[in-house]
Amino acid sequence: MTVGIVGAGQLGRMLALAGYPLGLDFLCLDPAREAPAGQVAPQLHGAFTDRRLLARLLSRCEVVTFDWENVPVTGLAAVARRGRGRICPPLTALATGQDRVAEKRLFERLGIPTTRWHAVGSPQELRRALDRIGLPGVLKTRRLGYDGKGQAVVRSAAQAAAAWRKLGRAPLLYEEWVDFDCEVSIIGARGAGGATAVYPLCGNVHGAGILRLTLAPFGPSRWQRQAARYLTRVLEHFRYRGILTIEFFVRRGKLIANELAPRVHNSGHWTIEGAVTSQFENHLRAILGLPLGATTPLGHSAMVNLIGRLPPRGTLLKLEGVHLHEYGKAPRAGRKVGHCTIVEGTSARRDARARRLLRDLAVDVRIP
Ligand code: AMP
Repeated sequence: MTVGIVGAGQLGRMLALAGYPLGLDFLCLDPAREAPAGQVAPQLHGAFTDRRLLARLLSRCEVVTFDWENVPVTGLAAVARRGRGRICPPLTALATGQDRVAEKRLFERLGIPTTRWHAVGSPQELRRALDRIGLPGVLKTRRLGYDGKGQAVVRSAAQAAAAWRKLGRAPLLYEEWVDFDCEVSIIGARGAGGATAVYPLCGNVHGAGILRLTLAPFGPSRWQRQAARYLTRVLEHFRYRGILTIEFFVRRGKLIANELAPRVHNSGHWTIEGAVTSQFENHLRAILGLPLGATTPLGHSAMVNLIGRLPPRGTLLKLEGVHLHEYGKAPRAGRKVGHCTIVEGTSARRDARARRLLRDLAVDVRIP
């Protein structure tokens, strides 16, 4: 049984690595020559919009999924319409995750609290947005933003003008700045027959818009229940198949949805060693119609992203119990090149170990 993956990044690589023990084969599609997933699975080299290649991928695979939420939807939809195969998660969810305005509208429609926002396509609209939402705020591109790219914090009228000059060529969204107490994400799978499995809440720390650290389980059970309710609403809305993630700000005990990702998520990497079934395996189970695996945590986990360049392996592996994942990527500033996870019996021991790991890596983040 072969699973197709559009995109051959680190998420595709970890999907393949999770699928091999189940006897699955993989085939990815990506234009990059040295793609992380292409190092562990066969790869079709070409553009995500190449319909001939997409058709080949669909015809050779039991099911096709994607590891990147910015894969162009049109080509995939056209090939799927010609009945060439099955794509999971649904392309309607992919399209929604690609546009911040569509995302906000969905949250509002499903009664999921989100930030106050205003679509911006001209300097006049930006002025109206500033009047309505106020300062401070964040101007974001509606599409193609990730890891803090395509956004600018706006604290004054002069900064608004500068942000417009920087980003104004693309359709934008202006939203309130949330003075959050912490950030969390909820990850869950919906499989055959509508069965769902939700992981413990993740506590996330970002630096310069990039995820640095995840702790799980995180926060009171009240947050967990609320986040799971919101996630389930989105899963049911799309009649979803696969793993879905929603990121939230938490302000004064209230969850405020920031964005959704129709795929396995960086904040769920801890599940590889820290949960009975990893998010990658559960994604595969869900899209293949297999029973979902338990999402029970095996302890208290911390996941630290390795960004820019990898430290010498020995620096990490000298710490007992550190699990290292390298993605096979060349070093580049701001690029996620690997991660490591620790799983401990108590949150106090986990935090002590995570603090030491962060210090050894010279990562300047505080444990929430
Ligand atoms: P995003 O790409 O929207 O997930 O933004 C990346 C990170 O930037 C978030 O996880 C937050 O840490 C920060 N951020 C984005 N939007 C806001 C906001 N409206 N208020 C406060 N922080 C934000």
